[in-house]
Formats: sequence, structure tokens, C-alpha cells
Amino acid sequence: ASALVWFRRDLRVDDQAALYHALRQSRQVFCVFVLDRAILDALPRADRRVEFIIDALRSLDAELRALGGALIVRHGWALDEVPRLAAELGVAKVFYNRDDEPQALARDAEVEQRLARRGIAMQGFKDHVVFERSELLTGAGKPYGVFTPYKNAWLKKIDPFYLKAYPVLRHAGALADHALAQGVPTLAEIGFEPTDLHASLRGGSGPAEALLAEFLQRIDRYDEARDFPALRGPSYLSPHLRFGTVSVRRLAREAHQRQMSGSRGAEIWLAELIWRDFYHQVMHHHPHAMQSAFRPEYDAIQWRSGPEAEADFTAWCEGRTGYPLVDAAMLQLNQSGYMHNRLRMVVASFLIKDLGLDWRWGERYFTEKLLDFDLAANNGGWQWAASSGCDAQPYFRIFNPISQSEKFDAEGRFIKRYLPQLAKLPPKLIHAPWLARPLELQACGVELGVNYPRPVLMHEDARVATLARYAVVKSRA
Ligand code: FAD
Repeated sequence: ASALVWFRRDLRVDDQAALYHALRQSRQVFCVFVLDRAILDALPRADRRVEFIIDALRSLDAELRALGGALIVRHGWALDEVPRLAAELGVAKVFYNRDDEPQALARDAEVEQRLARRGIAMQGFKDHVVFERSELLTGAGKPYGVFTPYKNAWLKKIDPFYLKAYPVLRHAGALADHALAQGVPTLAEIGFEPTDLHASLRGGSGPAEALLAEFLQRIDRYDEARDFPALRGPSYLSPHLRFGTVSVRRLAREAHQRQMSGSRGAEIWLAELIWRDFYHQVMHHHPHAMQSAFRPEYDAIQWRSGPEAEADFTAWCEGRTGYPLVDAAMLQLNQSGYMHNRLRMVVASFLIKDLGLDWRWGERYFTEKLLDFDLAANNGGWQWAASSGCDAQPYFRIFNPISQSEKFDAEGRFIKRYLPQLAKLPPKLIHAPWLARPLELQACGVELGVNYPRPVLMHEDARVATLARYAVVKSRA
């Protein structure tokens, strides 16, 4: 029989679960990606992610063609396109990799029903994470709510079987070309404009391989470098994990092997991949947390609202809070679509626990801007910072934005990259310029309120207000 593989967040040929199973089970395998208007129509006309996807599709199409196949690309509504194409091609079955986001689950269930009406089967596979859903449960059969025991269980269960690559190439003979596969449309053809997507952030398995090779040279130092945004510490692989242009099994295998031979950097990096699995299983077991607080008592918090709160939110979005590390971080996000993990924690804490704004506002802004936006990880990160999430930091732990800056960007090197007007400030003045004497600032070419903003608030006052705001939680917990 023939089959259709529906690609979504798994845009590669190598070690691809659904593709492998389709090739094993079918005489002829067609491949499709739908540029889904249910998602695309809501986006701004210039969106770095759309450009990343187009890149990745071109690369995928070329990889498939080299093996005798091709990618059919449709621009329309996935709910209609997938069943229609499956019928047109006369396939017996549609293969796909599972996506546990609530909206994706609803979409897939609907597609499955529509296919069933035409007598076509649909089958899903695990591909996006190492362990999914209920594969890891506590001794009592419950999902894990705390990361460390989850990580220990993950490490205990892992063995070469789970990390083995699916040998797609061995079965590639069943890949089939089709007259409907007419190449990948340009951005303009689907109504989008080119963006400033940085050369190092292009989509496709080639760019992913290049980043990985470069990272593996320095993975042993990851533990020391990862917290300092001015250094090249992390892997920058997150958009590739998001769109599946690299296999998570491959990454976990590289890290696990090095951890076994004593690399501390690899051990810590593997733990980050485990956090990713952790947040995905949280999403599976607690889909309500994608909209409201994981711990319901935190929904009683009264966040600031009204015009002043909105103006402060805009200042945060635009990198105009007057706190240099926070502002530089937001400019990194706005200018590249990426933000360093340490800085995500700093700016999230600032929005919630300094500005007193609802964490969902920040979550939404990240959703719009991040190239690596991932519902499970983003929601997990925001609820961690808000103290309302699964294994979150306690509510009374409030990052001090000045000491975070002194600790993780001591010389101000990262800050100066994004705020050149502060380039002449010495390290002792750069973390909180308003504490300097006006003459000192003037000598460095800085004039507060003119070429760099005055601080929107004083951290110590905000801290007191936040503890009062969170008191409602203590009384309900
Ligand atoms: P590396 O340090 O090289 O880590 C390797 C991989 O591990 C990452 O690519 C990512 O897939 C995974 N990872 C690392 N840290 C985490 C984590 N805390 N939770 C889950 N997975 C992790 N990550 C996203 O992929 N998408 C998001 O939308 C996202 N939003 C976040 C929002 C907030 C408020 C916070 C605090 C964190 C968020 N993260 C998110 C997690 C983390 O910041 C990014 O995964 C990381 O910065 C990506 O850069 P990297 O690939 O260079 O990371």
C-alpha cells in the first residue's frame, strides 16, 4: 500500500520516526507539509519563524529528492488539505509524529476523523521528545511534579534503545516523487516578507549540523560558560529542536556518551534536554496550565492593570526600563529572535516581580518574538518565574536585577553590545547608572532621560509591593 507522511515539527529526513515507519510499512511513500493558514494568517507579515520554516522546507525537499522522493507543500488549512491530498494520492494511511500542544491535538483528532470518513487510517509516533506522556511515572503511578526526581528517573531508564537513530536511509527506496511536488513556495508567494533572520539562525538540517559540530567542540565547558550571556556558552540549537531540523535523540546520545566518559559540561547540558522532556510531560498531564496558573491559588493574585501598567509593559518590551541588563536582553530578543536563558529568567522576573505585571503578558510577548517559541517550555519558564508552576522557584525568591547584572555580566560586555550609548561606562557604573553622580555619567557621554532612560522603578520598593501582592497566595495555599 502507499502512505503519506505529514511533516510538522520534524523537518528532517535523518532519524525521523514517522518517516521510518511509513517506509518500513509501505510500498510507496509521499511526503507533505502544510503551510497552515490556521496558524499563518494570525502572524505579522514579517516573521522570522516563517522564514526559518521556508529554509527548512527547502532543505527537506532537497534531501528527499536526493533519495528519489519529494516534498509536496500546500498552503491552506491543514484540516482540509491533509484529508484531501491523502484521498487524491489514494494512500491507505497517514503517518505523523505526535505534537502534544492542546491545539495540535485537537487539529490532529479532527484530521483523523475526516480521514476515517474516507477510509484512510492515521497513525502517530513519538519523535519530538525522548520520553513522552506517561512513559515516566512515579512509583505511585503519578506524573512527576518535581524536576530532580524526574531527571533521576529519566537517567535511570535511558539506554541505547531509546536513543537509537531510526535508520531511514536503509529504507529510502520506497520514497516516491509526484507531479504535485512542485518545490517550496517563496515567502512572497505565501504573502510574507523577508526578515532580518541572522545567517547563524537559518533553518534546515545543514545549519543544525554546523551548530552542533561547533557546540560539541565546547560542550565540556558548558557548565562554566552557560550562565554568562557575553560568552558563547549555550548551543543555540533551540529553534532546530523546535522545528525538528535536528533529532533530540541524536543530541541526547551525544551528550549521554560524553557524560558517561566524565564530561561535566555534557552532564549539565543533558539535564537541559531533560527539562525539555519534563515540561512536555507537564503539558500532557496538565493542559489547563497552558492558560492559567499550574497552582490555582496563584490565580488569585491581583496584577497591575490600566494605562500606567500598560506603559510599563511597553517599556519592558522595547528595552526601556532603565535597567541595562534587562534592556539589553529585550533588545537581543527584538533584534534576533533569540534570548540567552539566564536573561529569560532575569527579564521574566523583572516583569512579574518588579513591574507587578501578569506573567501571561510576558509569555505572550515571547510567543510572538521567540524563534524557538515552544508552548511547553515557554509556559514552564514563565510559570517558574511567577512561582505558580510545576517545581517553580518559591514566591519570596525575587531576583535582584542589579546583582544578577553584576554577577553574570560583570564587565558589562553583553550590555554594551546592545546599548552602545553606555559603552564608556566603567563596570562599577554600568549595572545601575542612576546611582552614579551626574558628572561621572556626563564624562561617559550618558545623560539619563536623554540617551538612556531613568529607571522605571526602584527594585527595593517593588520587592515590598510584590511580597504584599503574593501574600494572597500564602493565605490560600
Ligand atoms: P542550551 O543551553 O544549549 O540548551 C539545549 C536545549 O535544551 C535547548 O535548545 C532547549 O531545547 C533545552 N532547554 C534548555 N533549557 C531549557 C528549559 N529551561 N526548559 C526547557 N527546555 C530547555 N525554551 C524553548 O525552547 N522555547 C521557549 O519558548 C522557551 N521560553 C522560555 C521562557 C522563559 C521565561 C525561560 C526562563 C526559559 C525559556 N526557554 C524556552 C528555555 C531556555 O531558555 C531555552 O531553551 C534556551 O535558552 C535555548 O537556547 P539554547 O538552545 O542555546 O540552549
